[in-house]
Parts: sequence; structure tokens; C-alpha cells
Amino acid sequence: MKVGEYDADRFDRMRRIDWLDLDSIQNTRCLVAGAGALGNEVVKCMLLAGFRKITVVDMDEIVASNLSRCVFFRETDGGRKKAEVVAERAGGLYPGAEIVPVVSRIQETEDWEFDIVMGCLDNISARLHVNSHARYHRIPYIDGATDGFRGKVQVVFENGPCLECGMNSSHMKMMDERFSCTGGGTIFVPKLASEITTTSVIAAVQVREAMKILSGRRELSIRNVMYYDGLSGTMQELEVPEDSSCPNHNTEELK
Ligand SMILES: [Zn+2]
Repeated sequence: MKVGEYDADRFDRMRRIDWLDLDSIQNTRCLVAGAGALGNEVVKCMLLAGFRKITVVDMDEIVASNLSRCVFFRETDGGRKKAEVVAERAGGLYPGAEIVPVVSRIQETEDWEFDIVMGCLDNISARLHVNSHARYHRIPYIDGATDGFRGKVQVVFENGPCLECGMNSSHMKMMDERFSCTGGGTIFVPKLASEITTTSVIAAVQVREAMKILSGRRELSIRNVMYYDGLSGTMQELEVPEDSSCPNHNTEELK
């Protein structure tokens, strides 16, 4: 055996994880909702891990304050659309990957022909929209969120608790307040503290959950919310009870 024979295969080290289903990962149609800090890190990890069919949805433009957390953005990208720049730059990480940019609000997405959805959003109303649509279409939804040195990941399947089940009245009140602040259909989203190390951890956990689910190891996935505290370096998994009054749990007869 020649030295370096194994090193010619991009995925050689991944193939040594015997249960990982690389074929499934490569053929999965992925929706990444949001191309900001989390979206950049999620797309980066996905491409390095062998995902190659990725649609990225985001309507926003790049501003200077994105540059401390977004691996695919450059100083000269100011004013360009985030989704388009991610699609343009990320492809170099895995030649042959198809990265489709969609410049629109996630609420305007009509195509739900996907096998997995990665939530990289910055507001509750967009999250609830993706949650209900992914649930209705029976697509696993992996939602990530960060706030300073804290973050969380929730995995939503076609059964069991969903994102809305875990929301309490203060979340809903907050959403109402945001809608009441809007003018001309623009949603006011307060800017939360954010830095790259927590973003990287949360994005990596999201992609790792996708890899487990797509390799037929759902039983290993997070049940139901993983909280990360970057200050103490700890992670905790907390169960979300299924809410029988949640509107996303009685859609079967509609199909
Ligand atoms: Zn629910």
C-alpha cells in the first residue's frame, strides 16, 4: 500500500465513522433559512461534511457589522445580497455542490421540496413560519439561535413537540409587540449580542444533528432543546412538553 493512498479521498476520515451515511448526506435536499452569521457557519460545515444540494434563503444585504461573524463575506460586499454571496463563495469549499440562492423572505417560500431544514433565523415570526411549514410537510427542522455567549438548538420532527410548543406567553407577547412596531410590513427585529465562537458552536451542533438524522440515527438526536452556555462551557438538554393546544399538531387530516 502506497503512502497517501487514503489521502486522495476527500471524505476518507469521515468514512471511518462506520454508521455515517455519506450517500444520504450528499443526496439530501437542504433548505438553509437565513444567510447571516449562523447561515454562513451552517453552510460552511455542511459543505465540508459532504452536503451538496443546498438552497439558501435570505432577503438581507451585507453590512459591515456582519463581517466579524460571516466567513463568506468581505469588506467589498457591502450592499450585496447575503444569499447570493454565500452561494457564490461557498461553492469553492466543495466543487460540484449546487448552492441555490433565493433572495426573499422565508415567508414567501412556496417550494418545500426539501429533506431537511436548517433554521438560521433572527426572529420569532420567521421561526414559527418555518416550524409550521416544515412540520406540515414532515421535514425535520433543526433550529439554531444565539444570544451573546448563549445559544440553543431545537430539533423538530413530524411528531412530538415543535418550536411553538416550547413558546410561552411572553414569547407571543414579544412577537405582538414587534408586529405592533412595524410600518409598511417591515418587521422590527432588535439586534441581539452576537460573536463568532458561540455562532460556530451552535451551527456545528445543527449540522451534526442533520448528519445523525440523515444517517438513520434519529434516536441519537437532541430531545428536544439543547441549551449552550459558552461562559461555563456547558450544554444541557431540556425536554419540551408537547402542547395539545398547539396549532401544528392537527394537520394530518388536511393532507
Ligand atoms: Zn407544537
